[in-house]
Amino acid sequence: MHSITLIIPVFNEGAVLDQHLPVIFAQLETIHNITFKVLVIDDGSTDNTVSTLRSLCKQYPNLHFRNLTRNFGKEAAIQAGLAQVSTETEAVIVMDSDLQHPPQLIPQMIQLWQQGIPVVEAYKMSRGQESSTSRFLAHTFYHLFDSLAGMNIKNHSDFKLLDKKVVAAYCALPERKRFFRGIIPWLGFTSAQIPFTVPERPHGATAWSYLRLIKLSLTAITSFSSAPLHLITLLGLTSLLISLIFGTLALYQKFTGVAINGFTTVILLISLIGSLLMIALGIMGVYIAHIYEEVKQRPSYLIDWEKSDDNG
Ligand code: UDP
Ligand code: MG
Repeated sequence: MHSITLIIPVFNEGAVLDQHLPVIFAQLETIHNITFKVLVIDDGSTDNTVSTLRSLCKQYPNLHFRNLTRNFGKEAAIQAGLAQVSTETEAVIVMDSDLQHPPQLIPQMIQLWQQGIPVVEAYKMSRGQESSTSRFLAHTFYHLFDSLAGMNIKNHSDFKLLDKKVVAAYCALPERKRFFRGIIPWLGFTSAQIPFTVPERPHGATAWSYLRLIKLSLTAITSFSSAPLHLITLLGLTSLLISLIFGTLALYQKFTGVAINGFTTVILLISLIGSLLMIALGIMGVYIAHIYEEVKQRPSYLIDWEKSDDNG
């Protein structure tokens, strides 16, 4: 009998969890010969998520949950879940609680895993209903990530089945700030892809603001690529070329005795160099912030053991 753990990060889903989780459990009940455990990681919810989870636990004996002390973000919640089960399960499935990761895909994922594939990834065939701004931002991000990190993860999702060896490798990585969707392919285990169409969220609303998505994109790019740093060199060379042209022109005009409007040239040069320096400093700042976060070596989550259910 195989054992699989579902890891579900939740944040302020109290009002809708008792409608979403039963759908997931109903799907699990159709799968035989496998014992399931569902581990919900409450990412510091401030609503009634914990009390909803407690009452759901009475109904579903294989449901367990851990509470992070505050909202650390979905990436940290996934990491907490994986670290919790890494030694006791044969495989994990990471999925959202809001049914936007269709539970109907689980049997197919398990089937592929049983055929010996350690990573089964569900990818978004269509991104479902979303605003044109989110679509544009997502497209820009994936394009940048592909060209800077050399990794095409367009339309990948966090809905993945991972064999225990993949979980162990993921947990053994020393870095703290993580981009789950990028690290799993980076680990390099054999993977299979299952396409799915993102359904509408049946209840509740997304907790991600554009600002949080942009922050996640910056973490993703700066943890996977140092190409923006090399860009500074490129910008420096370009500005040198421009200065040379300007300089030659100024010298030529001086020697031929043509009266030049010196101020214009000076102002142009100052603004050009000034803006280049600003861009360069901005990019370096992103990396320095990243180094800073890593150097601090703070754990990226803490579990509140008193609040968590700890009998499973
Ligand atoms: N989530 C989380 N921590 C957060 C934000 C979200 O654990 O800080 C959970 C959320 O409860 C849900 C999943 O991550 O189970 C996906 O979130 P959501 O549906 O809001 O995002 P989207 O579908 O827009 O990507
Ligand atoms: Mg969602």
